[in-house]
Amino acid sequence: MYDIPFLDVPPLQSAAGTVTLPGSKSISNRVLLLAALSEGRTTVHDLLDSDDTRVMLAALRELGCGVEPQADGTLAITGLGGALPRQSANLFLGNAGTAMRPLCAALSLLAAQHGGQFELRGVPRMHERPIGDLVDALRQLGCPIDYLGNAGFPPLRLGHGQPATLQLDQPIRVRGDVSSQFLTALLLALPLVATKNVVIDVVGELISKPYIDITLKLLAQFGVAVQRDGWQRFTIPAGSRYRSPGDVFVEGDASSASYFIALGAIASTSGVTVQGVGLASIQGDIRFVEAAQAMGAHITGGPNHLVIQRGAWPLKAIDLDCNHIPDAAMTLAVMALYADGTTTLRNIASWRVKETDRIAAMATELRKLGATVEEGPDFIRVEPLPAHGWRPASIHTYDDHRVAMCFSLAAFNPACLPVRIEDPKCVAKTFPDYFETLFEVVAPVAHEVPVICIDGPTASGKGTLGAAVAQRLGYHLLDSGALYRLVGLAADKAGLSTRSEDLADPTLARQLGALAGSMAVRFDGQGIWLDGENVSDAVRSEAAGMAASRVSALPSVRQALLALQHGFQRAPGLVADGRDMGTVIFPAAPMKIFLTASAAQRAERRHKQLISKGISAKIDSLLADLEARDRQDSTRASAPLKPAEDALLLDNSALDVDQSVHQVLVWWQDKRPF
Ligand code: C5P
Repeated sequence: MYDIPFLDVPPLQSAAGTVTLPGSKSISNRVLLLAALSEGRTTVHDLLDSDDTRVMLAALRELGCGVEPQADGTLAITGLGGALPRQSANLFLGNAGTAMRPLCAALSLLAAQHGGQFELRGVPRMHERPIGDLVDALRQLGCPIDYLGNAGFPPLRLGHGQPATLQLDQPIRVRGDVSSQFLTALLLALPLVATKNVVIDVVGELISKPYIDITLKLLAQFGVAVQRDGWQRFTIPAGSRYRSPGDVFVEGDASSASYFIALGAIASTSGVTVQGVGLASIQGDIRFVEAAQAMGAHITGGPNHLVIQRGAWPLKAIDLDCNHIPDAAMTLAVMALYADGTTTLRNIASWRVKETDRIAAMATELRKLGATVEEGPDFIRVEPLPAHGWRPASIHTYDDHRVAMCFSLAAFNPACLPVRIEDPKCVAKTFPDYFETLFEVVAPVAHEVPVICIDGPTASGKGTLGAAVAQRLGYHLLDSGALYRLVGLAADKAGLSTRSEDLADPTLARQLGALAGSMAVRFDGQGIWLDGENVSDAVRSEAAGMAASRVSALPSVRQALLALQHGFQRAPGLVADGRDMGTVIFPAAPMKIFLTASAAQRAERRHKQLISKGISAKIDSLLADLEARDRQDSTRASAPLKPAEDALLLDNSALDVDQSVHQVLVWWQDKRPF
């Protein structure tokens, strides 16, 4: 997950490969609640791990459910079986509507039955999301509920601490035209008290019917067969009781699939495969497939996968009632930019009461890209963008995961502009690794992945600065010095000399070049690996540095490491530090820094570094080593150390790390189009 202020998505061109979707949010939280209300133990497979499921799990734990992660990645839930082991709790539910609504209903009924008292609250936006219609329905039943803030909105207090009598004889009336989650909440909760037939009547046209369908299918898996008369009346039969099915499998998220379906439709592609949902999915958003097909995508699939290829190009404009795919339809609004005419998405009033006012948010951000957009109370109309009409934009994401995800698709613009996504970690709500997954299957426009080069003499602080800048921008990091150090280590292991006097031997030079080209190296969160061995400490030694300096003078070695270094230039971007990043390896890089500090300063820093690691060292000899390496690096014939002509010089003798990082980020921002 990118926990950074913004992420710049480079211009993208094509896509290919397979994406495995995270579990569906809607199914995950329903399954968790059902497992919690059932008797016995349920093993949940492929559960979504996200903000919304985490708040649900935290709430269930507080209520006394057993929640045990298993070694195989599944989660074992031991349910309450209709009991209420904790009579009171204060639950924080973040911005998770799929936790707030069903817990409100279930806990209101349990509190009334057993005499409990619960408070539910969330983030400020949650306190602006309506819940009055659900509260009204529960009050009709006789559940005591108080608003702790504004009437009609969370926070709420459920129950008064004493049992209350429930009125189950009359049909319960609930509005269906604001959010289908109210009806879902009642359907999930009422089996707890179904001593007689309980009837729910829907008032108004029910929206988002497919979500009700998911609810009914999951209820059936947990042993409750609701009778449905059209979409107006639902009856929970007397004696209904939740029974754990033992094992439950959560489908991949069909709404999340929409971004990759769109990707296949937009990118010139040899085919994008989506694993986790198929054409027979129980999720309503699977019908996004039809909308994408209407826009021209070629889609085939099986029970648990989809394959998408670009068909019509430009895409075909559509005029569509999106009531059946409210979440996935946001993706269509971005696809509309690539269409051959005006696209209108209708019947989307529910967008206004989601994580943010999504109609306003989509209109505002699409306009930033240059689009002409018309918005109405329940529709949005988007004109396509010609190549010259695109503008570089920093997309505000309103703490709304779907805004962040769907706007990443704007990076396929024909103007080859990058797209800045603000607060990218908001995708954690449903798809924490969305951007990582995206970057695995897309190919950026050639040479458009930005590289920031940081060159400079030894111990100038390139590594520290490079790592900090890479972290802040979410970019990959190439510590090229480590590659030369690895050659030194590998030579040692292979019994090849790296002594200066031997290196003039052309056979040895060839052998070292071949070795450099065939090293099995890996950089990951744990460190640096050579042939399966963690050599993070070994490469950092002074001896390795000196050996690196000697072998790095060999053109055969430098040549052999070229392709390896170029391979680091991957989306979303790269920070590369070394001696010749700006001059030789990435000469077209949009920003090159030449970092220096006085030799005395550098010797002192290296000294401190070694002492802190418990390695004894003398400043004088460090200074002498350092000057010798400077001399060797800057006088060698092959790629000598020198600033690139267009490099920005940064002398950090008097700066601390934060100040250097800040300076580099300011320079970088100056070069960005946003
Ligand atoms: O930066 P570091 O001290 O890890 O680099 C070790 C040695 O590798 C340097 O002294 C230099 O001789 C060599 N090197 C190089 N070109 C690079 C990076 C490092 O020649 N791009």
